Amino acid sequence: MASGGLNAANTACADAECGLFALAKSAEVKSAEVKAEPLRSVADTPPLAPTPAAHQADQGDDDWDDGSPLYQARRKIYPQRVQGFYRRIKWAVLCVTLGIYYLTPFVRWDRGPNAPGQAVLIDLPNRRFYFFFIEIWPQEVYYLTGLLIIAAMTLFLMNALAGRIWCGYLCPQTVWTDLFQAIERLWEGDRREHLQRERAGWTGERVVRLACKHITWLMVAWWTGGAWVLYFADAPTLVHDLATLNAPLVAYAWIGILTFTTYALAGHMREQVCLYMCPWPRIQAALTDEYALNVTYRYDRGEPRGSVKKSAALRAQGLPAGDCVECLQCVHVCPTGIDIRQGPDLGCIQCGLCIDACDAVMAKVGRPPRLIAYDTDMNIKRHAQGLAPEYRLLRVRTLLYMAIIALVGGIMSFALITRAAQSISVLHDRNPIFVRLSDGAIRNAYTVRIANKRSERREFTLSLSGLAGSLLDVVQTRPDGRFVVEVGPDQTREIRVLVTDYAERPAGSTAINFHLYDAMTGERASAGDYFRAPEEG
Ligand code: SF4
Ligand code: SF4
Repeated sequence: MASGGLNAANTACADAECGLFALAKSAEVKSAEVKAEPLRSVADTPPLAPTPAAHQADQGDDDWDDGSPLYQARRKIYPQRVQGFYRRIKWAVLCVTLGIYYLTPFVRWDRGPNAPGQAVLIDLPNRRFYFFFIEIWPQEVYYLTGLLIIAAMTLFLMNALAGRIWCGYLCPQTVWTDLFQAIERLWEGDRREHLQRERAGWTGERVVRLACKHITWLMVAWWTGGAWVLYFADAPTLVHDLATLNAPLVAYAWIGILTFTTYALAGHMREQVCLYMCPWPRIQAALTDEYALNVTYRYDRGEPRGSVKKSAALRAQGLPAGDCVECLQCVHVCPTGIDIRQGPDLGCIQCGLCIDACDAVMAKVGRPPRLIAYDTDMNIKRHAQGLAPEYRLLRVRTLLYMAIIALVGGIMSFALITRAAQSISVLHDRNPIFVRLSDGAIRNAYTVRIANKRSERREFTLSLSGLAGSLLDVVQTRPDGRFVVEVGPDQTREIRVLVTDYAERPAGSTAINFHLYDAMTGERASAGDYFRAPEEG
């Protein structure tokens, strides 16, 4: 499906190369310079969703298996610089997101003397994740599950409201590709200049410009990889170690891998990642509905399209003429090479740049803006019928997504607020399950793990319930007979516990509970298990 849309867009792009810069040269559109297609009526416009039948018609062949290759070779895209409302939003999002990514490792957060002072840190050796005031332990990985559910539902909600705005503005592939394209324009010029240089062949100047472009790309890619590893260690220390070649080898290896992947994905593969590697366009297409806002061409306004002169001539004769002047600016600014006038396409990341380009054209030819706009499929039909647009932001699916986000977010917040600063887990010995002592008593052994989630050393008293007349034996005791276990700050401690039962008990399992008590704070934790006795009693 994508290839069909891309084919059309790329063909249109190539055909109109001669008329490409008509607008740039003059405030008045010199439509005679544009090699326009014959005027088309609204009835001739493509359907809202390209279908196999439409694809066949485009190919001019009723035979679906026409022998054409299944693989379409990549056509290099030279996105043209554009200015406007959505371009400014994209620049702002790019600055904010890259700023967050590059600078977050250097943000400090005071957690006390025994804890790392980095606000966001993935501490793999100690198996901790720090996010400002939140500290996640390995056994609390369910928080990650909650975050993933919220992230997925947020993506679905964004899609239900405004299509692929994630892809167009926030996706890392889009953000880095945008940055790499800006660097490319810096060294190789805008679309026209770039094409002229390529057609001129290899010159000394071009070699220097290309070298500068790739060096700048590699520098950005290297800094991207470098910033990533800073999330896994104290950033200032690691930067010093990297600079003095004292950092661990694994840090250099990861920087190298991420430098290469950033350079390849954002510098060379670009829209290919969105078209062929990313699953989201396929999922998104299955999730969308007729009320989701998508970047859309107003067929009712634009068709029949034609040059300014031809349209003016038609209007003078009282014949219908659309607002689209066939300048192809919307195609030339598109980072994925889409012609949005062909209808929805999986290749469209809905970045809105074609809206900016078309609005500039409409301003120059004195026609209303938003010939291309964020609108719904439903409204495209309503426009064609002469009906007023209708927007339904609150629908069953958007309400459902919001409810799930609120529910999971609420559960996670509650769990975080009421989170205990200590925990206990118990593991019964499997072999032997019990031991009969020489005096006839039965003994069971357990491994008890105690976690102290505070940043200070704590003493916990361990006790047992559910087995009257039994004896608890742990590693460390106090003279007063209490079993006290000392656990270091932000640490866990594993101890071996022996429970000996002298009472005459029925055979089988008896439920028991281990209790942890911090006398300083009054906090408690418990864990249940079983005491096993032999069948013969
Ligand atoms: S839709 Fe707008 S930008 Fe695209 S060809 Fe028509 S007038 Fe030009
Ligand atoms: S068609 Fe328009 S919105 Fe879609 S990717 Fe191209 S420029 Fe962006």
